[in-house]
Amino acid sequence: MAIKKVPFSKEFIEKVIQTHPTPFHIYDEKAMLENAEKLKQAFSWNKGFKEFYAVKAAPNPYLIKVLKNKDFGADCSSLPEIILAQKSGIPGNEIMFTSNNTSLKEFELAKEVGAIINLDDLSHLYYIDKNVGLPDLICMRYNPGPLKEGNAIIGKPEEAKYGYTREQLFEGYRYAKQKGVKRFGLHTMVASNELSNDYFIETAEILFNLAIDISKETGVHFEFINLGGGIGIPYHPEQTAVDYDYISAGIKKLYEKIIIGKGHPELKLYLEAGRVITGPYGYLVSTVQHLKSTYKNYVGLDASMHNLMRPAMYGAYHHITVLGKEDMPNNKSYDVTGSLCENNDKFAIDRNLPAMEPGDIVVIHDAGAHGHSMGFNYNAKLRSAELLLRSDGSVKEIRRAETIDDYFATLNFEGLTQL
Ligand SMILES: *Cc1c(COP(=O)(O)O)cnc(C)c1O
Repeated sequence: MAIKKVPFSKEFIEKVIQTHPTPFHIYDEKAMLENAEKLKQAFSWNKGFKEFYAVKAAPNPYLIKVLKNKDFGADCSSLPEIILAQKSGIPGNEIMFTSNNTSLKEFELAKEVGAIINLDDLSHLYYIDKNVGLPDLICMRYNPGPLKEGNAIIGKPEEAKYGYTREQLFEGYRYAKQKGVKRFGLHTMVASNELSNDYFIETAEILFNLAIDISKETGVHFEFINLGGGIGIPYHPEQTAVDYDYISAGIKKLYEKIIIGKGHPELKLYLEAGRVITGPYGYLVSTVQHLKSTYKNYVGLDASMHNLMRPAMYGAYHHITVLGKEDMPNNKSYDVTGSLCENNDKFAIDRNLPAMEPGDIVVIHDAGAHGHSMGFNYNAKLRSAELLLRSDGSVKEIRRAETIDDYFATLNFEGLTQL
């Protein structure tokens, strides 16, 4: 069971709203840091362990910086994400560049800044060799295909567009070694929002065995194995968070048995988790604008799915707290909606909540990953501000809300006169 509480009171948020009108995203720095520390500690047995925060979860430089202070690197998959990581203070060699269908410009910048290039395909290896030149450290992404079951968000590995087959990996490392590449990594990422602890241990086992097989056949030694991201979070109160210590202990056992046991030198373990790093620590705060009763009861918020599209896109559950009504019975059923002209613009359907009225402050939980970052401007909706609830209790605006001028910024109205 996950406990779904908010880290602030109604009075506190009412004060914040005086200077930062709803809707906004607010991130709980203290809880985020505690989680980061727990993850770090769990893997501290592995010398060189590093988490590369997958910035797409919440690409805000302040959050990246907060995590950098816990020695996290950044996992990036596009050119602007690399620049963002750099601007946030992450040195090039602590940027993992895990992209797919990658453009020349992206490879060029990744190499230029000294990022760890994690190749998605054998053809990219030849492409980068020919057009950019091989860096001295290369990582390759494995797709285990039918060997590993996928899950709902990422799908079956054999249907997934990512990664090399087993045979292609042997070919790839042989080629890279022959071309003078000196340092090697191996990666996979086959799950998304996975809550089974054993799933991650099994993935590590597959990678460890694969690393040994590749090493034996090609003579390559691995500097690191990147276990990817995909660690889930308990969106629903009935779900349970993963147990870092359990996962780490299971992986340690396999590391000793397979990596060390079969004569491979010590290697570093990397993770590139995103969701579990920021997801539970972000909240979308909004105000009830209207109530409506027709064939159902509706609560209309001042936030819409452009602020958090997971419920509309995946039918995802996000827990809802009505501030100041935490102890009231959830005895009224509502659809909680935004104001887009799309009927799937709902944060919850048939959700039992306390009776509401206009002006109530509604907090949507677990919006810290793929929340603001998946935002969009459909229906000319403007993206909200992001705030950081600092460990000392103060609130810092870490991204201002968009204005109408921002929305018009890519248009040239003067050009109209020529039509
Ligand atoms: C999205 C992504 C991650 C992070 O996944 P989470 O589910 O947020 O942990 C890591 N690596 C790659 C390549 C990704 O695309």
